[in-house]
Amino acid sequence: MGEVTVIYGHHAERMAISLMEAMHIAQEIRRIGKEDPYIGLKPNLVVAQPAHWGATTSPELVRGVLRYLKEHGFTKIAIMESSWVGEQTADAFRFCGYEALSQEFDVPLIDLKEDAYEEIEVDGLPVKVCREPLRVDYLINLPVLKAHCQTKITCALKNLKGCIPDQEKRRFHRLGLHRPIACLSKALRPHLTIVDGLIGDLTHEEGGNPVRMGLMLAGGDPVLIDAYVAELLGYEGKDIPYIGLAAQLGVGSDQLSEDVPVELNPGDKETTIGPIEAGMEVDYLRHWINDDNACSPCFGSLVYALMRLKKEGRLENLPKGIAIGQGFKKQQGTGIGIGSCTAGFETFLPGCPPKAKDIIQFLHNHVPGE
Ligand code: SF4
Repeated sequence: MGEVTVIYGHHAERMAISLMEAMHIAQEIRRIGKEDPYIGLKPNLVVAQPAHWGATTSPELVRGVLRYLKEHGFTKIAIMESSWVGEQTADAFRFCGYEALSQEFDVPLIDLKEDAYEEIEVDGLPVKVCREPLRVDYLINLPVLKAHCQTKITCALKNLKGCIPDQEKRRFHRLGLHRPIACLSKALRPHLTIVDGLIGDLTHEEGGNPVRMGLMLAGGDPVLIDAYVAELLGYEGKDIPYIGLAAQLGVGSDQLSEDVPVELNPGDKETTIGPIEAGMEVDYLRHWINDDNACSPCFGSLVYALMRLKKEGRLENLPKGIAIGQGFKKQQGTGIGIGSCTAGFETFLPGCPPKAKDIIQFLHNHVPGE
């Protein structure tokens, strides 16, 4: 599965099932050759906050994964996680809606803070990995697409940090995060990653500045997924060292081709219009946006791009009122437009939706004073 597949929408359960059907995941699991393979689901429950806060994996997405697996006859399934240091995983399971899922589908919740670990050496670095995720026959990684204050993004590779003991999490930070994250992905490579890109966070992994993107991504290569997510959030893959390091270790490819991503339902992004949630940072950035029925992935890309420009100290130079949205189709305009819907504008960036990385480059090149 050397590709990234994207589906647009807001109905997480249905979207997860559609992705798994399109990717023939049941057949792939059966190819392992075990009668009843043990399947592990690793969501991101870093804190006990609801998914609409932007930090944690939607329980509706996980419901879709469980429904698909059960309907295809798989019974040996567990949800496993260790929240960040200082947070009780049991609280996160309960608060984020996973206790209800556990009862509904009769699957255990495993708190990896209470698990034993094994030490695996990768590229000269010993890494402690919890035993339960190492035991599974098929590991499904379920990260959230979001920004991170230290590593810039957090998605497929960094989500695996929830599979190590707390003492090891602290050591990862002392080691600067990037190399240990890459080594961990070699020691514990997920078979499938499904990214919750419905609502992510603009600045921190613990949420609080949610951004509605209205999409879900999936693929077998966690490195390729992170390379694509980096661009979606306004970076180049090389800006995130652990992506390149993981590629060097042979975990996957960081080379994006023109074929990435494969869109399952390109027309449906036009129905994923929704206001962004509350959040002071996002509210501030809205002053630069003239939105008329923008699709969520388009709007989200612009918000992530404006946040980057703010961090670079360039936001205040930008003219306000950047046009975005389907309401601008066939309209003429003299200002700046983002997305193919603004093709009638004198200065516009094509793309449907454009990535934040391309929006940043475009604004650097085309805005007076830039
Ligand atoms: S360019 Fe228009 S149709 Fe395409 S994602 Fe943006 S707002 Fe939606």
